Amino acid sequence: MEVINNIQTLQNKLSLLSGKSIGFVPTMGFLHEGHLSLVETAKKENDIVVMSIFVNPLQFGPNEDFDQYPRDEERDKIIAEKHGVDFLFIPTIDEMYEEKRNITMQVHEQANVLCGKNRPGHFDGVITVLTKLFHIVNPQYAYFGMKDAQQLAIIKSLVKELNFPLQIVGLGTIREDDGLAKSSRNVYLSEIERDEALSLYNSLLNGQKLIVDGIKNADTIVNEVKNNLQKTNGKIDYVELLNYPQLEQIDVVESTVVLAVAVRFADARLIDNFILTSEGKLLERIN
Ligand code: AMP
Repeated sequence: MEVINNIQTLQNKLSLLSGKSIGFVPTMGFLHEGHLSLVETAKKENDIVVMSIFVNPLQFGPNEDFDQYPRDEERDKIIAEKHGVDFLFIPTIDEMYEEKRNITMQVHEQANVLCGKNRPGHFDGVITVLTKLFHIVNPQYAYFGMKDAQQLAIIKSLVKELNFPLQIVGLGTIREDDGLAKSSRNVYLSEIERDEALSLYNSLLNGQKLIVDGIKNADTIVNEVKNNLQKTNGKIDYVELLNYPQLEQIDVVESTVVLAVAVRFADARLIDNFILTSEGKLLERIN
């Protein structure tokens, strides 16, 4: 594996691989099995795997956890190499951003719900950094977790609306044995919060069961999930049931939907979701 910090160097190296397909896995590091499942699929489906690690300041609000975001570059390098990453791109902020930026990008309706509602500008930062990374790496496929369902939907819009010549693949959420979605931020949960955090997954299972049992009314499902979550000390940020990938409000479940929750604990805000068919079947991959 080659570790590269410089954009030009990476582009030069990748340009020598003519004819080989590149699968790209963008991350913010502090790698866990969720990231590695993306790598594993990228390896199966491409000749070369490029991973990036970049904690993107543009996608953090002024009161968010940019400084506290967990980082361990040396550990990440070992893990990435062990799992077969070919090029690990770790740029500095100065390498990625001009001191004075003249261009901004903006997400519209799809950013006004779920995480976007309480994180103004977050998805603008996400699509800005990904536009840069897609241009730098020029992959055929880029792999993202369905754990960040809104991000996945928005990236799909980005690629479609701006004609990026690559395909976005969304892959199912990797969980701890008890169901908690793996997340770099889980390290900031206290022991009690770690137990309580299970209610995100359990409440989604309950919501899914309602849909499987034929309940289609969105309010009924959302209220049931909220009742489940209220048993924790965490503060509910949102519980929403939207059509997917449009991310519009619905009254009745009649197409693919995302049932999504976010809960704020003392030092970590956790999100989880199920992307479900109208019959309540969990989707594991979105091409
Ligand atoms: P992050 O480093 O948190 O920005 O995540 C990098 C990529 O890994 C994103 O596409 C995430 O959706 C994905 N990811 C994060 N957690 C998980 C998980 N538990 N299962 C699958 N993918 C994940």
